[in-house]
Order: sequence, then structure tokens, then C-alpha cells
Amino acid sequence: MVNLLGHTPAELEAFCIALGEKPYRARQLLRWIHHAGANDFAAMSDVAKVLRERLGELATLEAPKVRLDTTAADGTRKWLLDVGTGNAIESVFIPEPARGTLCVSSQAGCALECSFCSTGRQGFNRNLTTAEIIGQLWHANRALRAASGAERPITNVVMMGMGEPLANFDNVVAAMRLMLDDFAYGLSRRRVTLSTSGLVPAIDRLADACPVSLAVSLHAPNDALRNELVPINRKYPIRELLAACVRYLEKAPRNFVMFEYVMLDGVNDTRAHARELAALVADVPCKVNLIPFNPFPNSGYARSTPEALERFRNTLVGAGIMTTIRRTRGDDIDAACGQLAGDVQDRTRRAEKRASRAAAAPAEEHAG
Ligand code: SAH
Ligand code: SF4
Repeated sequence: MVNLLGHTPAELEAFCIALGEKPYRARQLLRWIHHAGANDFAAMSDVAKVLRERLGELATLEAPKVRLDTTAADGTRKWLLDVGTGNAIESVFIPEPARGTLCVSSQAGCALECSFCSTGRQGFNRNLTTAEIIGQLWHANRALRAASGAERPITNVVMMGMGEPLANFDNVVAAMRLMLDDFAYGLSRRRVTLSTSGLVPAIDRLADACPVSLAVSLHAPNDALRNELVPINRKYPIRELLAACVRYLEKAPRNFVMFEYVMLDGVNDTRAHARELAALVADVPCKVNLIPFNPFPNSGYARSTPEALERFRNTLVGAGIMTTIRRTRGDDIDAACGQLAGDVQDRTRRAEKRASRAAAAPAEEHAG
């Protein structure tokens, strides 16, 4: 049995042709699967009965199974989804008056070890398949429609859940193409945002393969601090990252890059940091989104004070940089960014490595 949920339009067409069907059948299938959210071939009323029956024998439509489904007081809804072998991932729906945003995961765990991120703390297990990535949107769409009756409850997607999307490039691009396809979800490129910690060569590849809105996790105004917070910076330092952002804008659907900056008390949130940041990004068309840190047990960090947040924002705005503060949502169900912990079996033995490092050099962790 083949799971057609993650098939791209081209793959569906090849599948139909292999069955001796006309290629346009692929568009019908796409519409049924993604647009209508069908989970059963028998329901596809404008598909010939013989084909429906063959599909029933040969294929399935399978999204990750829901383990938990919780709704916060502010309407934010989080699903914990089972992706097999003991691993779970999360997706989160954030309703706002004029839009509904789904935050989608790309990997079970993450290999990149950003020091303030609970997904990073869990280690990396594996890349999600295209079906598991698009399955989050497919499932959320169905569940939200059933709850509210709204025809299009999800207007925006952000690849900001668990994992580094550019480290799972092919599957993420295939899933995003389905998000953009008129016969599937029909989202505009501006309404699909990919957030990356800064995999420079993959940013260039994304510009050609599937340009969508880009968010970059900057988090520090200089290499010394960023090396510590976002260790991939040692491989792709800030100067190279910013150059990649500027190149990306030539093909991007928006004329700015969104820099994400997590506000860590006493670590990266002083006025001096803000001034340094303003100077750093002065030549990059950008907006800055300040994210209040979401604490988790033993993180070693604290959220910046409201005063520090205000001061930081005002300094950036004073320097002419568009700056917003991310409102924390779904606090009562741990649905905020960086808290999408899921439940990942640590195949990289991250916890053990950290423990032995800490034992060898107790003062080293989070110094500065
Ligand atoms: N791996 C990608 C996308 C997923 S994380 C990336 O790093 O960009 C989405 C955003 O949440 C990133 O900006 C990330 O740095 C931020 N984040 C991670 N942990 C956080 C935490 N504990 N509090 C606030 N933001 C966090
Ligand atoms: Fe991975 Fe992003 Fe977390 Fe860094 S912040 S560890 S890249 S998920």
C-alpha cells in the first residue's frame, strides 16, 4: 500500500499514469485529498468507481495519529502526533482575528543544539516524511473545519515547530509545494514562512526550489555570542548568513527577511546588544521579531524583563528598524515557540554528552 498523502502533484500524476489513467486524474485526487480533506477514496464522487476501488486496494491516506489534542484558554490548539518508534511531534494552531496560523514541525527532534531550545535539548531522531509534514496541515484543517465550520480555517503556515526545516530540505520543499498548489491548499508564498537557524547553502537552494517568506533565527548581534547560542554559527558565521539573506531577497515573495531574536535575561538583551544589532542589520532589508524566551526545566535561562524588552525594541525602532514583540500564546498548554518538545527518543545521546561535558567543565555551560 502506498500512502498518497505526501505525493506531490508530479508524483500523483506519475501514479495515475502507471495505473493507465489520464494525468488530469491527479488534479482530481489532489483536490479531494487536500482541498476537501478526504480520508477515504470511496467518498471521491467524481472519480470513476473502478478507479476508486483500485485506489482502495493499492493506496492509503495516512497522517500521523493524534496522541493528545489540547486547547488553551486563548483558543490556541496543540496536537501531539505519533510518528512511530516512540517519537511524537507537535503542531500548533494560533487563531487571530484576521488569520489562522499553523505552526508545523519538520523533524523529530533537532541536531543543531541551540542552547535555549527544548527541541534541541532532546537530540535528533529523524527527518519527517513529506506525508508527516503535510499531514499536520491536512489533519489540522479537518479538525478545525469540524470544530468551527469555517471553510478555510488556516490562512498561514509557519515552519517553526520542531526541527530545522532546511536540514530536511527535500521533504520540506515537497510539503511546501503542496501548501502552495492551487488544487491542494492554495496558500500564497507570502503566507508560508520558513524559519531557519541559518544553513547558508540551503538558503540559496531554497531561493530556487521554493521561495517562500523567510525568517532567520539570529538571536545575537555578534559571532562570539551567536556561537554560544546557535552553534551552527561556527560553520556559517553572521556575515555569510546576512549575505545569504540579501541574495534570497532577489527571489523572495516579500521584500524583507524576518530576524527572530529570543530575549534572554542578561544574555543578549541589553541596550548595547540592541545598538550592535541595529548596526549589524542596517544594510539588510529586514524586520526584527523579539521573542520572549519560553522557559523549560533546567534551561539555564530566564525570560527578559518587560522593561528590557521595551528598551530593546525602542532602541531598534530608534535606529529605524521595524520591530515587533511576539505575543506569547497558549501559555497554559505549553504551545509557545521552543516549547514544542514532543517526545523524541534521543538517538544522538545528547543528554549523556551534555552530562559528561558538564561534569568535565561545570562552569562552562551558558557562561556569558
Ligand atoms: N529550527 C528553526 C525553526 C524552529 S524553532 C529555527 O531555529 O529557526 C522556531 C523559533 O523558536 C526559532 O527562532 C527558535 O530559535 C525559537 N525558539 C527556540 N526555543 C525557544 C524558546 N525556548 N523560547 C523562545 N523561542 C525559542
Ligand atoms: Fe533546532 Fe531551531 Fe531548536 Fe536550534 S532553535 S535546536 S535549529 S529547532
